[in-house]
Amino acid sequence: MKTLCILSLITLVGTCATPKYSTKIQNIKDSIILTDSVLVMKYANTITASELKTNLYQFCSDEFEGRKVGEPGQKKAALYLKNYYQSQNIASPFGDNKYFQTVPSNFLGDKFDSSENVLAFIKGTENPDEVVIVSAHLDHLGVSENGQIYAGADDDGSGNVALMEMAQAFKLAKNQGYGPKRSVLFLHLTAEEVGQLGSNYYVSHPAFPLNQTVANLNIDMIGRVDEQQKDNENYMYLIGSDRLSKELHYLSEKVNNTFFNIDLDYRYNAENDPNHYYSRSDHYNFALKGIPVIFYFNGTHADYHQTTDTPDKINFPLLEKRSKLIFATAWQIANQQRRLVTDRHNELLK
Ligand SMILES: [Zn+2]
Repeated sequence: MKTLCILSLITLVGTCATPKYSTKIQNIKDSIILTDSVLVMKYANTITASELKTNLYQFCSDEFEGRKVGEPGQKKAALYLKNYYQSQNIASPFGDNKYFQTVPSNFLGDKFDSSENVLAFIKGTENPDEVVIVSAHLDHLGVSENGQIYAGADDDGSGNVALMEMAQAFKLAKNQGYGPKRSVLFLHLTAEEVGQLGSNYYVSHPAFPLNQTVANLNIDMIGRVDEQQKDNENYMYLIGSDRLSKELHYLSEKVNNTFFNIDLDYRYNAENDPNHYYSRSDHYNFALKGIPVIFYFNGTHADYHQTTDTPDKINFPLLEKRSKLIFATAWQIANQQRRLVTDRHNELLK
């Protein structure tokens, strides 16, 4: 009897000292406390299909000539974004109406003229030095050999207009006294289509120190439904969310399960996925620096990288719903009490 008691005690102590992995995960889930449930939906609901549509038709217009890196059309698209942020009184982190970060031609392998990342931000009220980055690439493929324009409505017009609407929602919240605790950077990246060079340049020349960069939510194609999901448009592929921060993954799930109930599909997050999407858009440059990322994606379709990727094929109500989820996820990361942690620094995983 006595022996048994001691053994039980050892077992008990052992269990407490090294909780099972499933217990650690449950502890992480339990530690995530959603902030401002009413407020987040109030401002998420200012993101509308009709505004996304108006902005997307402008962003994909022939005037921007397919937004090929370094070319006049791409520069017009960058200027369009700058003008938008100025019109909304949303500042640049560089100040003085300097919304562009110039990526020099030699960084682009001397194959293209210099180009621009476009940056706008909402300054945090309590921890302004900590930043959540929401990103999308502004460049696309230009004009085809037979003179047709690559509109790039899904790739990645959808991501750019999502950022514009999210920025407007954060700005309205701030004007009404509910600015985010941490800063939120809206980062429109150039030169993604030629090797993710705009994001590569940004992480080499960051506007905020990378160790103060809490997370990167990167959007590349969220306005369409792919062939695999044609019977269920209420979905989105998420890639990378659990790779560096389990907290980010479960935070993202909790926001979705609480407010949106989109089917978050992780099939492309498998380590052995042959498409390797985890390394195929701008978030990867942030992940390589140890910054937790989520890549939001609707999958490819017959119009992917074709001149037929046009705005009339965008599902705007779906783009609205997906944008709202990403907004609410950014809101949570920017506003929660404790800074999001990577697994390496997460005491709950030890
Ligand atoms: Zn893209």
